[in-house]
Amino acid sequence: MRPSWVEVDVAAIRHNVSTIAGVVAPARVCAVVKADGYGHGDVPAARAAIAGGASSLAVAIVAEGVRLREAGIRAPILLLSEPPPADAEALVRWRLTPTVYSDRLLQPLAGLPGDAPHPVHLKVDTGMHRVGAAPADAVRLATRIAADPRLRLEGVWTHFAVSEDDPEFTREQLARFESVLADLREAGIEAGIRHVANTAGALEYPEARLDMVRTGLGIYGLRPAPHVAADLELRPAMRVVSHVSYLRRHPAGTRPSYGRRRALAAAATVATVPVGYADGVTRRLSAVGGEVLIGGRRFPFAGTVTMDQIVVDVDDADIAVGDEVVLLGRQGGEAIPAEEWAERLDTINYEVVCGFGPRLPRRYLGEAS
Ligand SMILES: *Cc1c(COP(=O)(O)O)cnc(C)c1O
Repeated sequence: MRPSWVEVDVAAIRHNVSTIAGVVAPARVCAVVKADGYGHGDVPAARAAIAGGASSLAVAIVAEGVRLREAGIRAPILLLSEPPPADAEALVRWRLTPTVYSDRLLQPLAGLPGDAPHPVHLKVDTGMHRVGAAPADAVRLATRIAADPRLRLEGVWTHFAVSEDDPEFTREQLARFESVLADLREAGIEAGIRHVANTAGALEYPEARLDMVRTGLGIYGLRPAPHVAADLELRPAMRVVSHVSYLRRHPAGTRPSYGRRRALAAAATVATVPVGYADGVTRRLSAVGGEVLIGGRRFPFAGTVTMDQIVVDVDDADIAVGDEVVLLGRQGGEAIPAEEWAERLDTINYEVVCGFGPRLPRRYLGEAS
């Protein structure tokens, strides 16, 4: 077997959820496990989150919800986007709770049989401007849902655009949301579960916790920005691990790998490691100063990342075939956090952890419950 994998500490996810749940209580935690649990594996992440105190789960699309149900997960599952009307039947069959912000889904959903009215959450756009009903349209949609005996308005929500770094705009979004809630009250409509906060919103704005928070990044032990709840103990759950497959000594001036981009400054040992850009170790990483850990020490790439393998300049270090190589995460006293990749690659830690491909098996450590 290829000795490369993504290692996920489910006990860390459980710990992070229970830590966050303690901070936001009495608000409930909805654990966001979309995109295969931000690359950590959706089913194990969901189980660990529930064990840690999450009362519900959220995903982006119907297929993600179905995967959780097929694995036997019974917690409520909220879809964060309005599914296409053609998915109405699957929603009912798999007991997935859709978000709506238009009229498109309501008729097909209401037309389906069920033991009880189908729950829906109404999303209002208060400033993210991606999806969501205009505040002025919210009462009309909510009224339509409330008036249909086959539908039930279970929740009303919005989403922050800059909760990690712009308190003024975030408070403005919250105020717009409160004003929609006031309009609903005035119209005699029960909003149900009110929720607005993502990880940064939940940890930085107590007034935004309302009835429930939707936390994704934080449950995986990462922060949306370094200052977010800086003194809260969150444990990164992911390590990306491989092992040295081959070692060769080369003279000064040797230029390993495609493009012959980099010359060894002195005679050195080059370690080959069987993981590459097809696994999500992006090719750019070797061009922007990326490093890996072997034996708890940092070493630079010796040349360009290839599809299936990388080369590492290990200098004169005492390294053997089979030694563990860490691309992301901790090894001994040293660590390469997702934020380091993000800074080098001019992106965010969210994209880094979502970027490791399906060719890398996920290996689970620790007990979820
Ligand atoms: C992804 C997502 C979240 C979770 O955001 P984090 O910053 O990862 O906590 C919450 N709400 C919505 C609508 C999302 O799309």
